[in-house]
Amino acid sequence: MKYISTRGNSPAQTFSEILLGGLAPDGGLYLPESYPQFTATDLAAMRAMNYRELAFTILSRFADDIPVADLRDIVNRTYTADVYRHTREGQNADDITPTVKLEDNLFLLSLSNGPTLAFKDMAMQLLGNLFEYVLAKTGREINILGATSGDTGSAAEYAMRGKKGIKVFMLSPHQKMSRFQTAQMFSLQDLNIFNIAVKGVFDDAQDIVKAVSNDHAFKAQHKIGAVNSINWGRIAAQVVYYFKGYFAVTRSNDEQVSFTVPSGNFGNVCAGHIARMMGLPVSKLVVATNENDVLDEFFRTGVYRPRGSAQTYHTSSPSMDISKASNFERFVFDLVGRDSAKMRELWGKVDHGGAFDLNEGGYFAKVADYGFVSGASNHTYRMQTIRETHARYGVTIDTHTADGLKVALEHREADVPMVVLETALPAKFEDAIQEALGHAPERPADLAGLEALPQRYEVMEANDAAIKQFVAART
Ligand SMILES: *Cc1c(COP(=O)(O)O)cnc(C)c1O
Repeated sequence: MKYISTRGNSPAQTFSEILLGGLAPDGGLYLPESYPQFTATDLAAMRAMNYRELAFTILSRFADDIPVADLRDIVNRTYTADVYRHTREGQNADDITPTVKLEDNLFLLSLSNGPTLAFKDMAMQLLGNLFEYVLAKTGREINILGATSGDTGSAAEYAMRGKKGIKVFMLSPHQKMSRFQTAQMFSLQDLNIFNIAVKGVFDDAQDIVKAVSNDHAFKAQHKIGAVNSINWGRIAAQVVYYFKGYFAVTRSNDEQVSFTVPSGNFGNVCAGHIARMMGLPVSKLVVATNENDVLDEFFRTGVYRPRGSAQTYHTSSPSMDISKASNFERFVFDLVGRDSAKMRELWGKVDHGGAFDLNEGGYFAKVADYGFVSGASNHTYRMQTIRETHARYGVTIDTHTADGLKVALEHREADVPMVVLETALPAKFEDAIQEALGHAPERPADLAGLEALPQRYEVMEANDAAIKQFVAART
């Protein structure tokens, strides 16, 4: 299996070669040169598999340059009941991504039972183990530099903590994350994790990461890497739970299932698109956004019009406050028939702050063939959905999942199970749940008292040179 760039001007690479990187050298995103296919016979065999067997079966098609015994070992160490232990009452942690039945043909797929209570653990935990493996094989080291407003940074730190050959330098806006998020990250005492609280807002932290990444000499000398959402390994890992969710809510492979995905960077739902392209019988892929509705606008009108950070609303589903969906390019590549010249033309506009209209050329008419539909939510709907779900089913959902459920209900089809991806647990967003329900959400027992643990972090000015010096002194 070789990976090619959506922009068509980078050499094809293997899974291990692209694992530690981000963008392809030509600025595009990597995708398999063709999607592996699962036939009816394959699906029949996969139906009986547990999560680890399923993950191995799917990932071995993507990572075919890793010896199968090694890959099996990595997968078996990653997807354990011990790691994904934050289950609801009555759920089996060894299912890794158990489902919650709300009513006939309406389900939640629990993706947030990992260490940081958000779906990003599903892929990031695998990435931590894959990075460690590939680095050990090649005798290399990597220093991950990132900026976070909450979820991504903590998922990365919990995945990389204690890993050989890896250090993490995570910038976050000083005193701007929730108390829970801050405690989750800063309470880590692992010596390979460096939390840097930058005096400023998230964009200041992000700008420093960009500036350091553009200093190619520094980047090379200090082996700077990233684990952002365009990383192919993360997408590949996410494909697995679409299969798991499909098998959990159907009895036969003649049935179809629809998935609704609370979306921001389009990474999660992109994995659903790939699962469908690989042969999973998916009816609809429902893209749910919050007030930041760039993706909803595209799927309603065919116009993709990313916005700047100044036009991004801060909402009560903050992990979806994104106005430029970095993984969207992967789907459009398929939509335009993998025409990389067309991609260079379209993203030539996006990369200069522009927009494009896929009604031109007749591409937008083909979106329906891929099952995509969409909808948007807002604070009022979010609060109402959390309240109604609690009242009707006795289930507390977080704000992002509430956006998903709100939009899912607008796209249900008779006799097609609708599966809403639960992208975070409510314990992560206590204030919003308090507002919706008048009481705080339950917190997993092992996280009680998290805010009282000793914290380890540095407060620094938003200054590129100072951050570089800090990193240089420790790498
Ligand atoms: C990251 C995140 C999302 C958005 O996922 P994308 O892959 O960026 O579309 C949704 N919900 C939660 C809780 C998240 O952390």
